[in-house]
Amino acid sequence: QLFADFADSIPPELRESIRRCGFVRPTPVQKFAIPVGLAGRDIMCCAQTGSGKTAAFLVPMLASMIKWGRGTGALTVPYEGPCKPDTLILCPTRELCLQIFEDALRFCSQTNFRVVRVYGQESVKNQIFEIAKGADVCVATPGRLWDFVSSGIVSLTELNCLVFDEADRMLEMGDMDKCVRPLVENFGMPCKENRQTMMFSATFPDAIQKLAGDFLYEHLFVAV
Ligand code: AMP
Repeated sequence: QLFADFADSIPPELRESIRRCGFVRPTPVQKFAIPVGLAGRDIMCCAQTGSGKTAAFLVPMLASMIKWGRGTGALTVPYEGPCKPDTLILCPTRELCLQIFEDALRFCSQTNFRVVRVYGQESVKNQIFEIAKGADVCVATPGRLWDFVSSGIVSLTELNCLVFDEADRMLEMGDMDKCVRPLVENFGMPCKENRQTMMFSATFPDAIQKLAGDFLYEHLFVAV
């Protein structure tokens, strides 16, 4: 199977950036997760590092933004009020955040979507400066995102798509209880209905199954 086989369901600007990445054949996880994601379904996917999981969520996520005309691109006027991203990718570490950010930039190269990164152990000032210009796609670690949401810099009330990458590591680090649940419960981060959620995890213990039950809506399970 080739990426070209998904041609009808992937918008041309996204197909072009996939081509520029040199991806010709989808990896097994992409082969199964992308069609499910393109159909708008919630997904729980067991996927290891190096399996191609990043494109497995970026492709459906960006396809939906393009298809429905979401995302505003860079703002030309000074931004007022909190930044309201359309799409959020949550991941456990700064390293993974930067890696996903780079991939997201490559996949957005033919669109005007604005991608921002939010992670700890770096100056808050620089990140706020970037966020102030607006964001369509936000790649974040939970702790720093929590700081920005609770101080009113970012609002998650208008999210249309949410991705948990390496959910098991976020769970182990305590971020799910410390940051993610309070975002849902106290800060109006939409959960279950009205948005698409994709959860990726290398392992699938009971605690992850519980999380899938709490955060996903009639999801399909993908394991390769
Ligand atoms: P990931 O698991 O998303 O971190 O991807 C692991 C590596 O595989 C990255 O360097 C990707 O650029 C690369 N990759 C992902 N999907 C494909 C594909 N379909 N064809 C070739 N390389 C890929």
